Amino acid sequence: MSNKRDYYEILSVDRNASAEDVKRAYRRMVKQYHPDIYKGDDADHRIKEINEAYEILSNPEKRGAYDRFGHAGVQGAAGGAPGAGFSDFADIFEEFFGGGFGFRRGAQRGPVRGSDLRYNLAVEFEEAVLGAEKEIKVTRHETCPRCEGVGAEPGTTPMRCPTCNGSGEVRQRQQTILGSFVNVTTCPRCRGEGEVVTTPCQQCHGERVVENTRRLRVKIPPGVDDGTRIRLPNEGEPGMRGGEPGNLYVFISVKPHKIFLRSEDDILLELPINVAQAVLGAEVEAPTLDGPRMVKIAPGTQPGKGLRLRGLGVPHLRKSGRGDMLITVNVRIPTQLSEEQNVLFEQLSELLGPESIDKEGPGFFDRMKEAFGL
Ligand SMILES: [Zn+2]
Ligand SMILES: [Zn+2]
Repeated sequence: MSNKRDYYEILSVDRNASAEDVKRAYRRMVKQYHPDIYKGDDADHRIKEINEAYEILSNPEKRGAYDRFGHAGVQGAAGGAPGAGFSDFADIFEEFFGGGFGFRRGAQRGPVRGSDLRYNLAVEFEEAVLGAEKEIKVTRHETCPRCEGVGAEPGTTPMRCPTCNGSGEVRQRQQTILGSFVNVTTCPRCRGEGEVVTTPCQQCHGERVVENTRRLRVKIPPGVDDGTRIRLPNEGEPGMRGGEPGNLYVFISVKPHKIFLRSEDDILLELPINVAQAVLGAEVEAPTLDGPRMVKIAPGTQPGKGLRLRGLGVPHLRKSGRGDMLITVNVRIPTQLSEEQNVLFEQLSELLGPESIDKEGPGFFDRMKEAFGL
């Protein structure tokens, strides 16, 4: 996986390329590297690469996953079904050349890995931080239990396709301006299978798969964040002809919290105190995800003072330990005073006098300079 080339590079398009740009680039590459034109030793590899890049970048969801996680994000999403990519390729190619080339679509006989599924799961802030186990309902296709994926009613057998005589493909010789070519296409009757079902299975009506909704338990490890992807191996769509099933990817989104804000693995909290607590100092209770904690407010605490509670933040996802809780003290100025409070504030005002402000130590701008290292 690691030596794979960047998909954007393969199609030589910009990362911001529009869907239209991607399509245009793909067509350009198809023309350039078609095996009937490009004779390099790496021709096969080139086509495969171009197809794979297009398959991912032309699909908004897959492209998003690729942008976010690179090749790992779309692992198995491309190249898993070799037949599918190639028939697209042939379609586009026929658009240019009128299907005149003997481009082999071939019958899809080999095992094909199942598609990956995506499930979007919104979790509470606390669940993301502390971890949780969630139950999700996922609908996927499963091999039909009645016919065991054959498509034919049990007791009957599919018969050899009369159109292609079991080969899965139809050959036609064609005359074009570029010469004579054998045009090989997938048999339209059996869709390349070589066999046709005469008595379809009653449960799946010959589709071989049935939809099934299942409940799955997902373990949310502590420390996940928006966009974290959890892989449930083999819980995706079933494979075909003995191919492995795809994976289920659970994409986490974290709901915002009323009072906590997350910054990487630290949690930010605003802690309101009153004027008296700021002046005289106090012990106040601060909410944390681990329950309330007593916090010491020093006498003469200024608004905006930061306090750090070590180890009360978010657990690191890929290593041990936790982030911190970062508290910003906010001094709330009372807006409504009782008569008694009003009297006391007036007395206080007289006692303090106008010059008291200068005695408070460094002024506002001095503190700002200090805070920003100016
Ligand atoms: Zn069936
Ligand atoms: Zn056929």
